[in-house]
Amino acid sequence: MKNMLINGYALTHFFIALVGAVELRHLQPPRLEAHNLGRRVICYRPLRHGSPLLAIERIAGKTVLHNAGLGGSGWTLGPGCVQHMIRQFEEISHGLVQPAMPIEIVGGGVVGLMTAYFLVKRGYQNITISAALFDDLTSHRAGGLIAPVSMDNDPSVQILLDQISIAAYAFYKTIADGFNEDFIGGARMMPAYFMTREDAGFDAYIGTVMREPRDVVVDFGNGTQRPMVEYQDALFVDTPLMMEQLTAFLRDKVIFIQRKITHFGQCAADYIFNCTGLGSGELLNDDQFVPVQGHLIMLKDQDKRALDYMMLVYFDATMNEHGQRVERSFYQFPKKDRGAGETDYGVIGGTFIEGATAQTPNEQEFELLVNRARNWFGLAGHYNNH
Ligand SMILES: Cc1cc2nc3c(=O)[nH]c(=O)nc-3n(C[C@H](O)[C@H](O)[C@H](O)COP(=O)(O)OP(=O)(O)OC[C@H]3O[C@@H](n4cnc5c(N)ncnc54)[C@H](O)[C@@H]3O)c2cc1C
Repeated sequence: MKNMLINGYALTHFFIALVGAVELRHLQPPRLEAHNLGRRVICYRPLRHGSPLLAIERIAGKTVLHNAGLGGSGWTLGPGCVQHMIRQFEEISHGLVQPAMPIEIVGGGVVGLMTAYFLVKRGYQNITISAALFDDLTSHRAGGLIAPVSMDNDPSVQILLDQISIAAYAFYKTIADGFNEDFIGGARMMPAYFMTREDAGFDAYIGTVMREPRDVVVDFGNGTQRPMVEYQDALFVDTPLMMEQLTAFLRDKVIFIQRKITHFGQCAADYIFNCTGLGSGELLNDDQFVPVQGHLIMLKDQDKRALDYMMLVYFDATMNEHGQRVERSFYQFPKKDRGAGETDYGVIGGTFIEGATAQTPNEQEFELLVNRARNWFGLAGHYNNH
């Protein structure tokens, strides 16, 4: 220390040593020329202010178990929330529930299908899933990062949600490790990079299911370097593949009915799992449910082997011309559309626009997103800006 104060040479070497201690990661950016930008997707996270709705309610003489409003974390929390609500279900029935007892699940997204999956695994045999739609849902479109994102939770529910997140991580890890033959290739472990530990939101996972992150410098091989936090044991879930595998598992075990319900009294079963996502706002007249619009661009013609990492970086938050709060980020995951070409691989995304609907698609966000991605990877000067 004394040396550093009196000797500039020693000081310089101290910093070199410090920088040398931070590990370098060489990552290849995705190709982001105009012809690499494929399908554009707009979809809506089912946010519920205060907390996801995880509760039991008597409605029209039925017992309704709510599991809705999981925001930008439906995949991250899904299996944990489902197991939590099934435990509640079995507690209120005091062990009287028989496998033949009729159960109706309303909603065919990840929450509805996972509910059916875990009920079947527990031995229930008389399950019906009713849903207005089964295809091309938010659940299929989601990016696939397992991390708590875009929620607005009251601190009083955080302990429960942390337990739920950890249970969900453990479920996906069995898939990633190849120990769940119902979901082959549905989840994979890979590094994820964030600007800060707060952005990652993994604090509850560290020391329980995940290891400590590392501070690294990411080098994109084009002169651009970024100091980042690396989690080597993050999980990526292939959302369209998981939806396909869930459906395949359930096909001969449950009854699927396509219909929209307007009241839980329309369900025949006495026990109902409400897994309607944003639909719950209307069904329950609950104005705490809010859509959070997101924009995604599927990538084409990529070097697939180079993109097995995830990255999430937050930028500015502002109000747009519709009076909607826009939070902009940039993220990249190695997602692939079902049936897409072998090199059509990867997705970029990154908008969170609260209260936006199909009437305000905010299409300009796609171009802003591409610009953010190119700037982040140091590619801005390399391509024509279209
Ligand atoms: C751009 C974007 C990126 C995302 N990325 C991630 C991510 O990386 N990781 C993550 O964990 N999460 C992510 N999410 C969030 C995740 O997609 C959602 O939280 C999750 O899909 C919600 O699942 P769900 O089953 O509740 O709802 P949905 O998938 O919306 O399914 C709702 C179901 O209920 C049915 N329904 C609704 N109302 C009725 C009714 N009245 N009668 C009958 N049926 C009804 C619908 O038809 C549908 O079948 C992302 C979301 C977006 C928009």
